[in-house]
Amino acid sequence: MHEMSVTQNVMEIVLQQAKEAGATRVKSVKLRFGTLTSIVPDCVAFYFEQMTPGTLAEGAKLDVEMVPLRLKCGQCGEEFEGQDELDVTCPKCGNPFTETLSGREMEVASIDVDT
Ligand SMILES: [Zn+2]
Repeated sequence: MHEMSVTQNVMEIVLQQAKEAGATRVKSVKLRFGTLTSIVPDCVAFYFEQMTPGTLAEGAKLDVEMVPLRLKCGQCGEEFEGQDELDVTCPKCGNPFTETLSGREMEVASIDVDT
């Protein structure tokens, strides 16, 4: 049910932006989610279709980009991709203390509208 509230937030942002742009219709919406958010894009697309009828975003194309988890070693500066930020060591020097560079994103990257 996580996706439902996320989609509601997305809708609020999209409709707000569309309104500010003086849009008559939202043509497409691009979202960006980090893999750490464990968002299922298909679920978001499902809720999006449920929520858009009757709004400016009705019929808009939804595009979801997943951002991989990227980590940076605090010791040697090596940057690498990981699956789980809690269980990771640097592949170069074995240091377990890493910094998360990306993977937590949850944002509306862009919207395309008709004005
Ligand atoms: Zn390292």
